Amino acid sequence: MVKEQLAARGITDQAVLRAMETVPRHLFVNEALHPTAYEDRPLPIACGQTISQPYTVALMCQLLMAERGMKVLEIGTGSGYQAAVLREMGLNVFSVERIQELYTKTKDLLTKKLGYYDIQLFLSDGTLGLELFAPFDRIIVAAGGPTIPDALKNQLAKNGIMLIPVGCERMSQNLIRVFKSGNVCKEENHGTTTFVDLVGKQGW
Ligand code: SAH
Repeated sequence: MVKEQLAARGITDQAVLRAMETVPRHLFVNEALHPTAYEDRPLPIACGQTISQPYTVALMCQLLMAERGMKVLEIGTGSGYQAAVLREMGLNVFSVERIQELYTKTKDLLTKKLGYYDIQLFLSDGTLGLELFAPFDRIIVAAGGPTIPDALKNQLAKNGIMLIPVGCERMSQNLIRVFKSGNVCKEENHGTTTFVDLVGKQGW
C-alpha cells in the first residue's frame, strides 16, 4: 500500500509514510472486509459512513504540513483510522464524532485494543469545533459541508492550517486548504474529492 499507492503517487512526507505503514488499517473495518482493507479505495464502516481511501488519508495528512507536537483537531472520527495516523505522526490529537454508535465503538478500539489513550475523543457537533480546547495548530475535516464553518476558522491558531472538503452539491466537493495569517484566512483549492456529509449547525 505505502509504496504503490502513496510513495509512487507523490506522498513524500516521511512522517506520513511511516505512520501509514505503522497503523493496522484492517482493524478499523469489519472482519469480513479484512482481506480488502489495504486496497486502493474507500471502505464502508458502520452507520452508512466510510473510511477514506489510503491515498486520500495520506494526501490530507501531507497537506496539513504538521510538525511533531502540534495540536490537531479532527472533525469526523468515524473508524478512528485517520486519528491513529495523525497520532503516529507525533501530533496531539483531538477528534470529534457526531454519531454515538461510532464514537463508542471507536473509543473502545483506539483505547482498549490499540492503546492510544492520548487521543482525545468527543461526541458532539464538530461544525462548532471544540471551543474549550482551542486554538488548534491544525484542523482536518473528514466530511464535506456547503461552506467552511466560521467556528472552525475562529478556532484555528494564528498561522494555522485547515483542510476541509467544501461544495454546494452533496458527495462532490473541492478539497480546500485554509491558511490563517493573523485573522485573515486565505484559501487554496486542491481539486475535487468525495466525502460523506458534514452534518451539523454549520454544515448540512
Ligand atoms: N476520519 C474517518 C472518516 C470517517 S467518515 C476515518 O478515518 O474513518 C466521516 C465521519 O464524519 C463520519 O463518521 C460522520 O459521522 C462524521 N461527521 C459528519 N458530520 C459531523 C459533525 N458535524 N461532527 C462530527 N462528526 C461528523
